[in-house]
Amino acid sequence: MAKNIDWANLGFGYIKTDYRYVSIFKDGAWDEGHITEDDMISLSECACVFQYAQTCFEGLKAYTTEDGRIVTFRPDLNGERMENSARRLSMPAFPKERFVKAVTEVVKANRDFVPPFGSGATLYIRPFMMGTNPVIGVKPATEYQFRIFTTPVGPYFKGGAKPITIRVSDFDRAAPHGTGNVKAGLNYAMSLYAITDAHEKGFDENMYLDAATRTHVEETGGANFIFVTKDNTIVTPKSNTILPSVTRRSLMHVAEHYLGLKVEERPVEFGEVADFAEAGLCGTAAVISPVGKINDHGKEICIPSGMEKMGPVLQKLYDTLTGIQMGRIEAPEGWIHEIC
Ligand SMILES: *Cc1c(COP(=O)(O)O)cnc(C)c1O
Repeated sequence: MAKNIDWANLGFGYIKTDYRYVSIFKDGAWDEGHITEDDMISLSECACVFQYAQTCFEGLKAYTTEDGRIVTFRPDLNGERMENSARRLSMPAFPKERFVKAVTEVVKANRDFVPPFGSGATLYIRPFMMGTNPVIGVKPATEYQFRIFTTPVGPYFKGGAKPITIRVSDFDRAAPHGTGNVKAGLNYAMSLYAITDAHEKGFDENMYLDAATRTHVEETGGANFIFVTKDNTIVTPKSNTILPSVTRRSLMHVAEHYLGLKVEERPVEFGEVADFAEAGLCGTAAVISPVGKINDHGKEICIPSGMEKMGPVLQKLYDTLTGIQMGRIEAPEGWIHEIC
C-alpha cells in the first residue's frame, strides 16, 4: 500500500522511511549486510569520521515509470564512483555489484514510499560510508559502516524550470590538486560558506573556476556545467578536479547518439562563456537547470536563449533523457535497473 503522502507538495527535505541498509567492515572484510528499521548511529566521540571527516556518499533516485515499474537509473555508475571516492579517502571500497544489490534491497523494502508516475516526485537514495573506530593519530580508520537510507522528495521545479543567476566565486570548491573528483562531505563543507554568501548577495549558485589558475570553468557546488555553442555543439568542461556527474555523462551520450549533435568534453576557458548560446547545470535532482545570467564581479553575462526559460537545445536534451528514464523512449542497454 502506497503511503499517504501528498506527493505533489513534497519538498526536498528528510522524511524517515521504514527501512535502511547497513554493512559493517571489520577485520579486513565487509559483513554480509542487512536491512534494519534502526535509523540511529551510535559511535565513539573519537570515530575517524568526526575527527578527520573520513566519509563519502552517493545520490540517486528511484521512481515509477509510465508502465508502473519501480526503477533506478544507472546505479552501477554510482557504485563505481563510490568505489573511487572511497579509495581516494583511504577507505575500503564497498564493491559496486554489492552496492547495486543493496540499493535494490532497500528500495524494494521501502517500495510504498516510491512516488507514483506523473507526480514528479521520486525516492531519493543516499548511500554513504564512514570510518567508525576511534582514531586520534592521523591515519585511516580500520572499521567502517556502509549505509543506505531513502527519503521521498518532491518535484525539483514546481511550475517549470526558471533560469537561475550564478556568480563567479572567489572561494574554491576544492583544493587545487585535491579531492574535487570525489563525492564527499568534505567538499560540501568547503562550499557551505560560499553558497550562504552567494544567497545573501542574491545569487542562486556559485560558478567555481579551477583553483590552481582561476582561468577555467569547473562546476557549481553540486552540479556539472553543460553548454551549447551557437552552432549547436554540446560542450562540457573536462577537469580532474570536478565530480564526474552521471547525468552529464548520460546527456553527452544522448546528445551524440540520439540527437546527432556534436559533443566536446574539453577544458573551457571562462572567457568563452559569453559566446555560448545556452548554459545549464546537470545533476540527478533536476537533470538540467537552465542558467540565465552569470555575474563576474559585477559584470553580467546574459545567456541569450536561456533568460526566460530553458533554451531549445537543452530542452530537447532534457526531454530525451527524461523520456528514456520514464520508459517512453528506448534506453541504451543497462541504463534502467528494474527494482520491482
Ligand atoms: C553529485 C554531484 C554532481 C552531480 O552528479 P550526478 O551523478 O549527475 O547526480 C555534480 N557535482 C558534484 C560536486 C556532486 O557532488
